[in-house]
Amino acid sequence: MSPRNLEKMYALLEKSGRSTPIYGLYTRDTNNQPTYQVQFVDEIGTTHYTNEFISPTNYDAYEIAWWLPYKDDQLNGYKEEDKRLRGSAATTFPQTYGWKIDGTPVELDSLTIKLITYFFTQRKFKPPLGSQAKWQERLGLFLNWYKIWKIKSLFASPRDQITWLKLMHRNLYIPPNPEDNTDESCPFCHVKFNEQHLSECKELIDKVWNPLLALLHSIHGIQPDNIPVFITLGQISKDEVICKHLSVLLFLAWRCVYAEIIQGRLENKKIKYSRAYHRAISMTITRITAYARRKMDIMGQKEPTHLSQLKNTSKTS
Ligand SMILES: [Zn+2]
Repeated sequence: MSPRNLEKMYALLEKSGRSTPIYGLYTRDTNNQPTYQVQFVDEIGTTHYTNEFISPTNYDAYEIAWWLPYKDDQLNGYKEEDKRLRGSAATTFPQTYGWKIDGTPVELDSLTIKLITYFFTQRKFKPPLGSQAKWQERLGLFLNWYKIWKIKSLFASPRDQITWLKLMHRNLYIPPNPEDNTDESCPFCHVKFNEQHLSECKELIDKVWNPLLALLHSIHGIQPDNIPVFITLGQISKDEVICKHLSVLLFLAWRCVYAEIIQGRLENKKIKYSRAYHRAISMTITRITAYARRKMDIMGQKEPTHLSQLKNTSKTS
């Protein structure tokens, strides 16, 4: 291991083999002995000092991967330091450095939205025609792919979005029964447990999709033309898809449903979709609250009314 630098932050793993890292500032205590000052990491990845100190002897220290969302502004002195912790550098993917766009080296956290938009508008957008054709064949209806691929979320993190995006691309792996690898059936309906079944499964409809649809209806009067098409692709009607304010609910519902399936399969436990639904709602509230706080901090703004409305409606459901 490389020598540790004073006043530098490290990811710390217990030598006895604890698996989740804690984060600490390498410093000296009042007796001039080396110590780590434990950091609390909030949900946007900003570190905060705590009054807890731990001894370096029990921990191995690893480099940290940071995300600097305002790197250039900070370097130019327009903005105070704002760095977000992503995890231990050895286990964080992707790293911010070592990437190229069209042969030009870039650092991911220096890429502004404007720059990314520029890069992407310079290329011809190639839709995943294979996934489109498969969904088209199974769902039957007119699918407005142009709008579907433009679905965005103001609140869901990139990680929150992985599951639903994978499903849209027909790239979501559903593991078989852990006790019998040849058994690929839904534990509730005993038909093939595939991507399409996730929007048709009676148990999922009862425990997740119907409550979610009722919630979306009460918040914003959303009434999709076709329920499976809405659940799998976010299409409300042939001209409308879910908006960037409400899409967080679908992104998180998919994330939590999938996590529940994976956990059920890996640990061979009964899948409880109601738990996934409640988790999705509570994560939605966390995401919106974090977003609103960030906005209010940055711009001195008041919380937009439709946000507080969404939070209140979600709480009572
Ligand atoms: Zn089923």
